[in-house]
Amino acid sequence: MPGFELFGELERNEVNDVLDSGVLMRYGFDGMRNGHWKSKELEAALQESFKTNHVQLVSSGTAAVSVALASAGVGAGDEVIMPVFTFVASFEAIMMLGAVPVLVDIDETLAVDPKAVEAAITPKTKAVMVVQMCGSMGNMNAIQAVCDKHSLLLVEDACQAIGGSYNGKPLGSIGDLGCFSFDFVKTITCGEGGAVITNNKEYYINADHYSDHGHDHIGIDRGAETHPFLGYNFRISELHAAVGLAQIKRLPEFLEIQKKNYTIIRDALSQIPEVTFRTVPEGGEESYSFLNFFLPDFETATKVSQSFKENGIDACWNYYNNNWHYIRKWDHLKDLKSLYPISNEVKESISKLKDKDFSKSDHYIGRNISCLIKLSWTEEEIRDRANKMKASILESL
Ligand SMILES: *Cc1c(COP(=O)(O)O)cnc(C)c1O
Repeated sequence: MPGFELFGELERNEVNDVLDSGVLMRYGFDGMRNGHWKSKELEAALQESFKTNHVQLVSSGTAAVSVALASAGVGAGDEVIMPVFTFVASFEAIMMLGAVPVLVDIDETLAVDPKAVEAAITPKTKAVMVVQMCGSMGNMNAIQAVCDKHSLLLVEDACQAIGGSYNGKPLGSIGDLGCFSFDFVKTITCGEGGAVITNNKEYYINADHYSDHGHDHIGIDRGAETHPFLGYNFRISELHAAVGLAQIKRLPEFLEIQKKNYTIIRDALSQIPEVTFRTVPEGGEESYSFLNFFLPDFETATKVSQSFKENGIDACWNYYNNNWHYIRKWDHLKDLKSLYPISNEVKESISKLKDKDFSKSDHYIGRNISCLIKLSWTEEEIRDRANKMKASILESL
């Protein structure tokens, strides 16, 4: 990650097909498009990669989460349980629908804690959204069991974990609905784009219509199509889909590089007894987009972060004080800084956040360092990086 590091001929050729036809729109204009349907082709490729019945491309990963929830009927006043360690998109996508984000602790997997999920369930809970952060997953069997027991929808945000799996199933394909992002810094990138995957035909049809103003897409002239229900514009463009199509063909190659680079660094850090690694649940296979490790305490993690910076080790973060990914710095959420009025249900849920004890999550996030695994590193660069990281950690202990 990210896939843009290896852009080449394949991406260029796919984009040129679209430019040559002049049709940048994914729907309609049949006669003008020289037979190019890049979005449809990308949907078919994703369907095969993720062993899923249905794929709906959308304009971003954030849009994918909103569309996934909307397509299953989640909306005003419904509570959606989500983790405190994720990306701001998670609560944005929930609140966009007027639904209520309920934030809960993570565990040693760095994903949502099944016990915290169960404890947060109320009669208003409609869905649980797991976020497969940094290429790995939570304890999906336990989370699925909680959802089954309480008849809750399970939505998977696998935006950072494309290519990972759990008990042989691709991440994103385990829940009722899965979401991917192809934004500029993801493993598969097309600039901006996302996908919703599901085996549920009704959710798929809803997602297909909802993401295009409620259009029914019955295959007649677009102007004559009707709107069975209200929608919005979350469409992807053919230009973006073309880049995505080139990239998805290269996913196995990207995953192989990620795993190789991750393994070299992990092997080096494994030689330090004080370093431990994020728990990957049994049956889980990471996508290797990030390497996550723990130091004995927050002070050491802070020292290591500092030392990495001083020694030119980029793309490694301690998320404790990060304002994109961890609740501690989400003041705009906690203070409900909104351009438009927010419902009382949302206000009530958010007002509880300020005093809520998330020390369990602090315990993991405070000691964690998360390093992006790049695709373009040379063998020499990786070995040099691994050695420098090791030296930095040893001197910080
Ligand atoms: C990137 C990301 C998103 C949002 O994707 P965009 O395509 O940037 O909107 C959502 N969730 C997670 C965990 C992400 O990393």
